[in-house]
Amino acid sequence: MQALVGLTTTELGDVAQTLGQPAYRGKQIAAWIYKRGAETVAEMGDLPKELRERLAAEYVVGLPEAAHRDVSSDETVKYLMRLQDGETVESVYLPYPERVSVCLSSQVGCAAGCRFCATAQGGFGRNLTTGEIVGQLLRMQRDTERRVSHAVYMGMGEPLWNYENVIKSLIVLRDEVGMSLRNLTISTVGVVPGIVALTKENLPVTLALSLHAPDDELRADLIPTARKWKLEEILDACAEYAQTTGRNLTFEYLLIGGVNDTPAQARELAHLLQKKRLPGNVNLIPFNFVATPQGFQRPTKEAIAAFRVELERCGRITTQRMTRGHSISAACGQLRRTVADRLVSLPLS
Ligand code: SAH
Repeated sequence: MQALVGLTTTELGDVAQTLGQPAYRGKQIAAWIYKRGAETVAEMGDLPKELRERLAAEYVVGLPEAAHRDVSSDETVKYLMRLQDGETVESVYLPYPERVSVCLSSQVGCAAGCRFCATAQGGFGRNLTTGEIVGQLLRMQRDTERRVSHAVYMGMGEPLWNYENVIKSLIVLRDEVGMSLRNLTISTVGVVPGIVALTKENLPVTLALSLHAPDDELRADLIPTARKWKLEEILDACAEYAQTTGRNLTFEYLLIGGVNDTPAQARELAHLLQKKRLPGNVNLIPFNFVATPQGFQRPTKEAIAAFRVELERCGRITTQRMTRGHSISAACGQLRRTVADRLVSLPLS
């Protein structure tokens, strides 16, 4: 069955017309899906019965199902979302007193192969549709009964390798759900053609670059895909993005003990960003443990602090990601793996 979620008001109007109804019904259907959180056509009470029946015969709303939920002591909720074809992806719900943020997946699995990432270990499955991306957010809104204000594309997958569906999801989140582009963040491993294309979209979202190393050699060791694009090229594309959109950038730096966490590397990182006159904070992310052949470990508290002090001494504003949801394996791809392991030994009855 075809999904309605992911379609714009205009497209929903076209659907109504193909069912012999006026186009303005599209507006009503969109309001039910995006504003009122309907998950079935039957819920759309103010649509004529005939339209509801015809819609339900050919379409579903198509929100992903919450197949599994892990609630952390800090109220972070990690979801395993089951898509219509049975594939699963992870989403995270992060409530703060003044806002609610969610982390969305853009692909089933990922092809980037990052050595430290649990998602990479499972390989690539497929791209998510626009409806599956937006649907994760709508499912969490419905489930928690709280309005989501911020979304980061930092779940499973590389958003810029699912370019068209991700772009359309930004448009649906802005125009249909009513979110501000300022509150949407695309996180990328550094896909240069994607960054260049995004610069021209007139969709000034926040761009976060997963940097993780101050030089090409170490970066390629951690992120095999990085061999395709030199840091120089990636940072130039980011600079252009910042200049065109007027938005600040975020540089994510995953800290792995004894690999990329020395003060000398912090200095090199600060100089690299300085040289390119790149605006933006560095966000330090201590490695969330994932078993790897390289035996990667979390950095020590002292190493994290020293790295941060050095970056700040070099004039770079540095934040540290609050490690939330630690008790629920909130690192990218971890829940899916644990649940998959559990399902192997404990088949669902
Ligand atoms: N492909 C995109 C978005 C998904 S990954 C990207 O690379 O940015 C989202 C973030 O989670 C990235 O910064 C990634 O490096 C980080 N991440 C992956 N594995 C991690 C781990 N084990 N611990 C902490 N952060 C991790």
